[in-house]
Amino acid sequence: MEIVVCVKQVPDTTEVKIDPQTNTLIRQGIPSIVNPFDKNAVEAALQIKEKYGGRVTVISMGPPQAKEALKECLAMGVDEAILMSDRAFGGSDTLATSHTLAAGIKKMGKVDLIICGKQAIDGDTAQVGPEIAEHLNIPQVTYVAKIDALTDAIRVEREHEEGYEIIESSLPALVTVIKSSNHQPRYATVKGALKANRKEIPVWTVHDVQVGAERIGLKGSPTQVRRIFTPSQRMQGEIIKADTAREAAFKLVAKLSEAKIV
Ligand SMILES: Cc1cc2nc3c(=O)[nH]c(=O)nc-3n(C[C@H](O)[C@H](O)[C@H](O)COP(=O)(O)OP(=O)(O)OC[C@H]3O[C@@H](n4cnc5c(N)ncnc54)[C@H](O)[C@@H]3O)c2cc1C
Repeated sequence: MEIVVCVKQVPDTTEVKIDPQTNTLIRQGIPSIVNPFDKNAVEAALQIKEKYGGRVTVISMGPPQAKEALKECLAMGVDEAILMSDRAFGGSDTLATSHTLAAGIKKMGKVDLIICGKQAIDGDTAQVGPEIAEHLNIPQVTYVAKIDALTDAIRVEREHEEGYEIIESSLPALVTVIKSSNHQPRYATVKGALKANRKEIPVWTVHDVQVGAERIGLKGSPTQVRRIFTPSQRMQGEIIKADTAREAAFKLVAKLSEAKIV
């Protein structure tokens, strides 16, 4: 099975700070890591390869330093890595990002399964995976916790609030994975890291893929960010304790009328 994993390099923090003047993320001084959900995606791909055979390729769109993230995936055991990097890709919103990545995946030829993380911990939109599937016109399943490969299809467990759905999809398909797909992705080995350092990572620019000039970078980004801010802290909630639901309801009504809400 030919598997492609989309990997994003992100700042190593969940406390992303915003520059109030420019409304952009402050990235200076923050080390970069592989987006944690994308490590789960890499682990899921490697497990499928180990069970059913095939090849795993990771692809990232980003600045030249994103090669470090790809090297880490090579050290985990993936076979190939490709970086899509060009000034023309800069300023991409999720639509332009997914268009560019879809063009990169198309260039690879036969691909059976594309795995993305559920979301990136910096942008957090969870849009890129589903958008890639739309650009490629292939089926998609999001929030996947488990993937089983069948002969020419996949069977996945999709998590939702009340449990799991079991979904079968024809291939090629795209899935986005959540953490419970594998709680602890494997660590890179020393042997893997040495191999990764020797491996050449091709860099595809705007000239290597079929993208429309008006569909990439800032030009291809219809999203306009008006303001980014950290939401103010909400007041702490209160849990009403009572022996019975009836008693709890009375206590709740008393509190609501005291606050002049009812
Ligand atoms: C107007 C505008 C301009 C922007 N300009 C820039 C900019 O100049 N520089 C910048 O860094 N960001 C920029 N961004 C943010 C950028 O659009 C998003 O970071 C990017 O599109 C991914 O979205 P996300 O982080 O929400 O990923 P999500 O949709 O949450 O990611 C889901 C999954 O998609 C895959 N994925 C996401 N992004 C990539 C990627 N780049 N490569 C490979 N796989 C990926 C991963 O598997 C990831 O787990 C801009 C956004 C807007 C709206």
